[in-house]
Amino acid sequence: MAKVGIVGYGNLGRGVEAVLKSASDLELVGIFSRRDPAQLDTESPAYALADIDQFVDEIDVLILCGGSRSDIPDQGPALAAKFNTVDAYDNHAEIPSYFDRIDQVAKENQTVAVISTGWDPGLFSLNRLLSEAILPEGNTYTFWGKGVSQGHSDAVRRVEGVKDAVQYTIPNQDLIETLHAGKSIDYKQGTAHSRLVYAVLEEGADGGRVKEEIVNMPDYFAPYDQVDVHFISQEELDRDHSGIPHGGTVIRQGQTSPEQKQVYDFTLKLDSNPEFTAAVNVAYARAAARLAKEGQYGAKTVFDIAPAYLSAKDGQTLRQELL
Ligand code: NDP
Repeated sequence: MAKVGIVGYGNLGRGVEAVLKSASDLELVGIFSRRDPAQLDTESPAYALADIDQFVDEIDVLILCGGSRSDIPDQGPALAAKFNTVDAYDNHAEIPSYFDRIDQVAKENQTVAVISTGWDPGLFSLNRLLSEAILPEGNTYTFWGKGVSQGHSDAVRRVEGVKDAVQYTIPNQDLIETLHAGKSIDYKQGTAHSRLVYAVLEEGADGGRVKEEIVNMPDYFAPYDQVDVHFISQEELDRDHSGIPHGGTVIRQGQTSPEQKQVYDFTLKLDSNPEFTAAVNVAYARAAARLAKEGQYGAKTVFDIAPAYLSAKDGQTLRQELL
């Protein structure tokens, strides 16, 4: 039984707590938060993050559930000095330098730090690698959605006159079907996805101006051919748009010989983005505990860990049931 701690109690932290309940080989020791632990809405043991050093001998692996923007870059290396860690760091451009920093700490302190698990980065990255290794001649495409983009929702909420908003990213199904049919496409940011906004207006706000501002927002909406903006009431937003669904597809279209076209497709449809990300984190926590026992210290990504390390089942059972 590996003992697990959760650091940070937001959407992802709550997801890990929920997923651990059905992991028979992993035990939750506690949740560690920068906020007053007594104020957290949980029945699990909760502690101040400042006291975490007292748990060094009681925890095999910490699952870091802080935000990628400002929490993980500091918390990751600091905690990897004392604990084995798993995180879902998703700032793609910064992953290589984050890896180098945490790798050094983990090797110096003989810990394992599994970084950037989840689905993108994470399972999508793994499938990009697998499909490219198997089909070196070809092209890989990633489509996201239908799902809520927190970044785009925040951007709409900052528009003057908007009280609340949710933004869905929607993949272009025609392009996906064209790829499935083995035909080539012209993949452009503005046509591969469309954007759907549900916004609640402040009283007296000019809907026409708000819509213009959203549709023409540089980087976020301006590059897209299709941006639909709907104004709804706060009650409708709370009732119909409070979930955090997401998902997407990685498609590689390749050839094994000039006549033989091959299509590799990996698709996720997620009711809850944080709960699925948490489920991936938990599987990699199992792997981190095993790697640490074997003395395989240092930073790892999903590329570096053999799949059997993720499973609660032993090798013999896996060979019988799944091979
Ligand atoms: P949240 O904003 O919900 O939580 C981030 C941190 O903020 C928490 O750990 C918590 O730390 C603090 N926090 C949460 N709620 C409150 C609150 N009410 N008041 C004050 N502080 C609060 O982020 P998510 O859990 O949704 O996501 C975490 C990260 O996961 C994201 O930044 C994203 O990068 C990553 N992610 C990665 C994915 C992947 O596929 N790789 C997919 C989805 C997400 P504390 O308890 O210490 O206060």
